[in-house]
Amino acid sequence: MTVQSEIFLEPPSSVDENSLRNSLQFLEEMTINTDPAQENVLAEIISQNAEAEYLKQFGLNGATDRETFKSKVPVSTYDDLLPYIQRIANGDTSPILSSHPISEFLTSSGTSAGERKLMPTIHQEMDRRQLLYSLLMPVMNQYVPDLDKGKALHFLFIKAETKTPSGLVARPVLTAYYKSEQFKKRPYDPYNVLTSPNEAILCPDSFQSMYTQMLCGLIMRHEVLRVGAVFASGLLRAIRFLQLNWAQLAHDISTGTLNPAITDPSIIKCMSKILKPNPKLADFITQECSGENWERIIPRIWPNTKYLEVIVTGAMAQYIPTLDYYSGNLPKPCTMYASSECYFGLNLKPMSEPNDVSYTIMPNMGYFEFLPHDDSSPITLSRDSPPKLVDLADVELGKFYELIITTYSGLCRYRVGDILQVTGFYNSDPQFKFVRRKNVLLSIEADKTDESELQKAIENASELLKDFNTSVVEYTSFADAKSIPGHYVIYWELLIKDSSNPPSDEVLNQCCLVMEESLNTVYRQGRVADNSIGPLEIRVVKNGTFEELMDYAISRGASINQYKVPRCVSFTPIMELLDSRVVSFHFSPSPPHWTPERRR
Ligand code: AMP
Repeated sequence: MTVQSEIFLEPPSSVDENSLRNSLQFLEEMTINTDPAQENVLAEIISQNAEAEYLKQFGLNGATDRETFKSKVPVSTYDDLLPYIQRIANGDTSPILSSHPISEFLTSSGTSAGERKLMPTIHQEMDRRQLLYSLLMPVMNQYVPDLDKGKALHFLFIKAETKTPSGLVARPVLTAYYKSEQFKKRPYDPYNVLTSPNEAILCPDSFQSMYTQMLCGLIMRHEVLRVGAVFASGLLRAIRFLQLNWAQLAHDISTGTLNPAITDPSIIKCMSKILKPNPKLADFITQECSGENWERIIPRIWPNTKYLEVIVTGAMAQYIPTLDYYSGNLPKPCTMYASSECYFGLNLKPMSEPNDVSYTIMPNMGYFEFLPHDDSSPITLSRDSPPKLVDLADVELGKFYELIITTYSGLCRYRVGDILQVTGFYNSDPQFKFVRRKNVLLSIEADKTDESELQKAIENASELLKDFNTSVVEYTSFADAKSIPGHYVIYWELLIKDSSNPPSDEVLNQCCLVMEESLNTVYRQGRVADNSIGPLEIRVVKNGTFEELMDYAISRGASINQYKVPRCVSFTPIMELLDSRVVSFHFSPSPPHWTPERRR
């Protein structure tokens, strides 16, 4: 089969029965022809970027076939690419990674040395991503009828952006998408009508943005067919926002006047057309929100909600019980799997239970390879003996792999850091369960904290204890998703050598803040700008607690010689043991420092 590049890039022009059918037809073709499509994508990427410095150095000499590519081009990590990325950021416009000009940097939530990774992207990539978005509703429409008869209350936000020294914009991928012409001037699509006006989504002030989106959602409550946010944690924050602000929202609706805290002129202008006095609706909101009982609040306020649209796979699974509580167990379809580097694929059975969610990787999005993964014997990659990577069409059912991508924007055999398991095939295209992100210990929302970052943060905080002749003898951690927003909890066992001069509460509170200051920029942004993470908490436990923890692990079969303190815990009996030994609780007294500017 010859796969023309135009069909990869041509999103449907308008949405009607025909285009729904075309999208599904496109999905069929791609998934039937997985391997030829991949072969074509690779050839296209190599031809496009043949003159780029990165690819040129490997001497492909015009070859565009898989064998030559695999034998000559090494697997890469962000650190390998950093010198190239820095040159682009500093204004070198020669073709370095891609022959096409780099249009901007997408800032990943994955970090390197505490800063967000910068992913170069090209203009063309936005259309490719748009195409994946355009497939989501045709798939959903097969399972949930009449989604074109109402609206989506989808809480969408932009985040801060910066410029590199050369003036290229650096921002998160969704911010780039919401600010793009493709989004702002999207054609009318009855399956994707949002209650939120663009003015609210594009407002950089997160309070004003959320307030306006919630207000519109309340005003249009009977039209709302689905409620969502990108991540489960984002939707919970919206519910918390309603808990805190319902009285003012009801006042606005009752009087038809906008909260004076909303000062963005474009929001004021657009809300003057939407907001009209509606005392009956205001009374309803007051009646629902003023009580103690918030169970099923989502269907109570938005009675026509058919499902929640949020990602609940991966780190987000921790929010499922709370979402179920507020939604009365509404379905939670996870529609897509994507990253700053590349959009990967979509869920073809969106109504499946979170545990059964699998994503079908779309072979037109990039060239995908898979590094076999085994937790007990990790593969060490070396340039001299390149590992055998498996092609998309050749992965085996039940096996675990690390995802490696080659993109049109110039990433070559790049390790994304995600571990996936093959759960089945749709036509000849494999489907994957998202297992986890490598090396992530703690995560509340987009933040990803690894073991060494946590260790460093503990070391920095321990400095404050030295004056009190005190040290941290053991620690572990827990991502507490029950508080909204969620927060990190660190359990400390202390050795206080001078009991007449123990560290005071104030010092231990400061330790929380020092830990937060040590964590990466995505964590601090979540704390400061997005309010998506609550203050870090230290729980000091009684002496001997970690020994009890070890006894418990050994009683359950752990080897005494190999026992290591788990640096993150979530198993209920262990949590109960730790919590029953807590002698004091401490919280960060103030948010850490954060600005959009990079520290390096
Ligand atoms: P970012 O580059 O900041 O957009 O983050 C992308 C990462 O988020 C991916 O590499 C995954 O680790 C994670 N991710 C994206 N989509 C999903 C999903 N549907 N389920 C679980 N994790 C996801």
